[in-house]
Amino acid sequence: MRELVVLGTASQVPTRTRNHNGYYLRWDGEGLLFDPGEGTQRQMIHAGVAAGHITRICLTHVHGDHCYGLPGVLSRMALDGVGHPVHLHYPATGDPVVRALVAVSSPGVDLRLHPHSGAGPVADGLEIRPLKHRIETYGYLLTEPDGRTFLPELLRAAGIAGPDVGRLQRLGALGAVRLEAVSIPRAGQRFAFIMDTAPCPGAEELAEGTDLLVAESTFSDDDGGLARQYLHLTAGQAGELAANGKSRTLVLTHFSSRYGDDATLLAEQARARAPGTAVIAARDLERIAVPPRRQRAREAAGHTTAIGLNHDGSS
Ligand SMILES: [Zn+2]
Repeated sequence: MRELVVLGTASQVPTRTRNHNGYYLRWDGEGLLFDPGEGTQRQMIHAGVAAGHITRICLTHVHGDHCYGLPGVLSRMALDGVGHPVHLHYPATGDPVVRALVAVSSPGVDLRLHPHSGAGPVADGLEIRPLKHRIETYGYLLTEPDGRTFLPELLRAAGIAGPDVGRLQRLGALGAVRLEAVSIPRAGQRFAFIMDTAPCPGAEELAEGTDLLVAESTFSDDDGGLARQYLHLTAGQAGELAANGKSRTLVLTHFSSRYGDDATLLAEQARARAPGTAVIAARDLERIAVPPRRQRAREAAGHTTAIGLNHDGSS
């Protein structure tokens, strides 16, 4: 199961209905917590996210609205007796802040620190790209390896059905039938997380081909001057990012409190620049499914009946 649970959507100052940042991504067996701001522990309770399911915590940068929730979450994990290793990724120059936050947390969690710099992979299927903010900041990209999508009419013609389909998937050939002959390539699913940044090449690379793109849109287009001054995106710029990257779904968040609780205007501004993208202005505690990847294979191939299989042969 792959879904995004929005824990908080406010930037610098929270509001009555918007907690500071916080995002939990359920990605098959992994639970990734991105940018836990203040109050994340309690938002997890409201959202029904168990601390014990977190396997990885990813910080874009160490401004308070993106990391002050860390000690609370870590202490809760210690209290719950979480036994598995928990990986913590963050910019290398944020090391003193991260160590201070970890130092005030209850001990007992098997926490593995992974400071990073540059661009590239930081874990299996997880990559970073530098962003452009007032301190060292990185965005994250989660990718699934490319797979193949079976075409039922070709499977039928080859006389392959039932458990043999999974067998063919695993073995690459079954008798004289080769996997390539009855299937088409299918791009793996892509999720990107882009927080505090001005428009920059790193953000463009992260957005490329994403099924689900979470992007900050601190300011309305009318406040473009403030966005430039503080190195943030406007809603329109977030929309442009999604349009250039051909993102399927764009989740806007990290809103300035100046817009109150209604982000409708910001969603409209993003939508105007990204007509081919589904745009969602995130609300706290909202759950957003990662769009199923089989749809993309169908779109690409013009087939209406393709079956997408996972690596283990399940659909
Ligand atoms: Zn921020």
